[in-house]
Amino acid sequence: MTDLILRHARLPHGAQADLRLSGGRIAQIAGAGTLAGDGATIEDLGGKLLVPGLVEGHIHLDKTLVGVPWMPHLPGASIADRIAAEKRLRHGLSVPVAQRAEALLARIVALGSVNVRCHVDVDDELGLGGVEALLGLRERWRDRVTLQLVAFPQSGVLRQRRVAELLEEAARQGVEVIGGLDPAGYDGDIKGQLDIVFGIAERHGRMVDIHLHDPGELGAFQLRRIAERSAAAGLQGRVAASHAFALGEVGRASFEATAAALRDGGVAVMTAAPGAAPMPPVAALNDAGVTVFAGSDNIRDAWSPLGNGDMLDRARLIAWRQGFAADEELWLAFAMTTEHGLRALGLDGHGIREGAAADLVVLPSPHVPQAIADCPPRSLVVKAGRIVARDGALTDPP
Ligand SMILES: [Zn+2]
Repeated sequence: MTDLILRHARLPHGAQADLRLSGGRIAQIAGAGTLAGDGATIEDLGGKLLVPGLVEGHIHLDKTLVGVPWMPHLPGASIADRIAAEKRLRHGLSVPVAQRAEALLARIVALGSVNVRCHVDVDDELGLGGVEALLGLRERWRDRVTLQLVAFPQSGVLRQRRVAELLEEAARQGVEVIGGLDPAGYDGDIKGQLDIVFGIAERHGRMVDIHLHDPGELGAFQLRRIAERSAAAGLQGRVAASHAFALGEVGRASFEATAAALRDGGVAVMTAAPGAAPMPPVAALNDAGVTVFAGSDNIRDAWSPLGNGDMLDRARLIAWRQGFAADEELWLAFAMTTEHGLRALGLDGHGIREGAAADLVVLPSPHVPQAIADCPPRSLVVKAGRIVARDGALTDPP
């Protein structure tokens, strides 16, 4: 692969520079207009903003109905009702999971998400069908996106006969992360579910990411138990709690104790800036030393007909839900879709510096706060030093 030179890039903190990308990395950052071609491909950015590749920290590619004609939403009063409604809906689908997932993946890569964590349903009925489809997709798209898979027990771990075994088999087959779901609210057994999930993660050297919708003190209690498990297993920095609505509901003393436990246990918190649920207070968690990152969650599926997979738009929604207005608050929302996301996914060696992975996005914006306000089109998306999308379209889809 020939080197790629990005000339006259505006770096996130304002200065212009030239970058040479080589071997998948940022080989050199030099003064604007100073790097010679030497047979490299040259892109003159003309002062456009260059930012790290976006991180989609939580998506369900296997559930999406993108690529399928519109299906009206089926309501469900409880999580269990919604799971049952989803099963009914998915039974009637003629478009296979790999095709639907790929349609959505193509969309999000073109929008600049080049590092992605995807939860994939595992239950007695589906078995590992979804995981196998997504493992195939991960391989097929590996030059365009780092796709990290979570084996997700959407129907619980203990309520189903084979799920514990299926999660373990998914770890053997190569998923990076073991998922969980409301150990108390869904399985009714906090210790039982966490024993299985952390046990598999420890045996196979995998990460953990648990969906935690349980409210108030019940949710906060479980977050502290997850943090203790993480510390006891030496998994700090490799465990996440997704949603953690409880952090947006509990009183101050409980919040502070739980945030301290999450920090000490190295447990990151993912939020999608939910529209109708309590949201963790992002800035307070960040101030307490907790890694807070962002994801789209459901996009056009049985759980939500909305969502667009645009992580700049997600940063804007986070800012909107949190009442962020100051530039430094917008920077925090942006970090949740870039560097904090990478940290939560255990992907280091990124950023805009020499030696870092050359995962980059070019935006027609003067700076990051305005990019969040405007959500401009993506001029270029670069994965491992190669242009994978230009002006919103993939350059060479697989
Ligand atoms: Zn989810």
